[in-house]
Amino acid sequence: MIRPELKSKPSEDISILVKLDNHAWNYLCECGDASALTVKEIQNSKAVFISHTHIDHFVNFDAVIRHQIGMERRVVICGPKGIADQVQSKIKSYTWNLIEKGSIIFELREYEHEEIKVYEIEPPNWELKKLPSLTGNRLYEDKDFVVTATLLDHKIPVLAYLFKEHDTVKIDIGKSGFQGGKWVKDLKVAFENESPDAPIQIQDKTYVAKDLYHLLSIKKGDSLGIIMDHAAHTENHTKIKKHFTGCNTVFVESFYLNEDREQAETNFHSYAKQSGKIMAEAKVKNPIPVHFSRKYKEEDINTILHQFTTAYNEHLEE
Ligand SMILES: [Zn+2]
Ligand SMILES: [Zn+2]
Repeated sequence: MIRPELKSKPSEDISILVKLDNHAWNYLCECGDASALTVKEIQNSKAVFISHTHIDHFVNFDAVIRHQIGMERRVVICGPKGIADQVQSKIKSYTWNLIEKGSIIFELREYEHEEIKVYEIEPPNWELKKLPSLTGNRLYEDKDFVVTATLLDHKIPVLAYLFKEHDTVKIDIGKSGFQGGKWVKDLKVAFENESPDAPIQIQDKTYVAKDLYHLLSIKKGDSLGIIMDHAAHTENHTKIKKHFTGCNTVFVESFYLNEDREQAETNFHSYAKQSGKIMAEAKVKNPIPVHFSRKYKEEDINTILHQFTTAYNEHLEE
């Protein structure tokens, strides 16, 4: 299971922390100024995902620099074109005479149209070193999950991220009549490697892997979307549907009330009913509207939530 935690109050900038079951690290999405994000959570973040660098999404990146330095680790920072220069600029605004080489390495991954430019930067000189680029949209991969991105239009490119846990193979040992043992792993490996004829040794007898496949079932991996600022227009909605359809949980920008549609259009933002509608059209099971204009009071935000849910339910039934 993927367990996201919203670290910002409705009146604060956006920040979401992603944790996974049986997984030691966590992952930080968006660096708005969020009061519930702790130093420990920042230190335990192995990668940071930034949708775009408007100040409300990037202002608290200083805290990542502040608390990750000295961890003697590599931390991956993903973001749009220009993120490498912007991270370097933030770092270079401070004095680092007491920080030695090896105290941190930031690996920066810039996504632009199926190409990921990769850089690294480390003390004491903090110069950007170019590493080989990657192709495709897989920005981050781990043994348990993968993160892909699609670019949305917010008058600037914004990365919308999809965390997808790998499917896992489960075995019903009880049904087999055998005791557990090495064969369980061998059978799973045979299945995963598509080797149906692999020999599987159980006690003193050898079986053919495919004859035991009836004991296996596939547990679908969980999925989480992080869709930040975007204009509520057809092109963006088409991309959202393409990338996020069937997703379990999605945090989606819902910046304005329906009544402020004009302002949303001017600022290339979404608004309550459009965010709710696109979540229904993408058949997202658990959509969570987030990131509201700071001009709104608590009751306005409650209205946004209500407008969002109404639109979601309306379009779900269609
Ligand atoms: Zn923005
Ligand atoms: Zn924003």
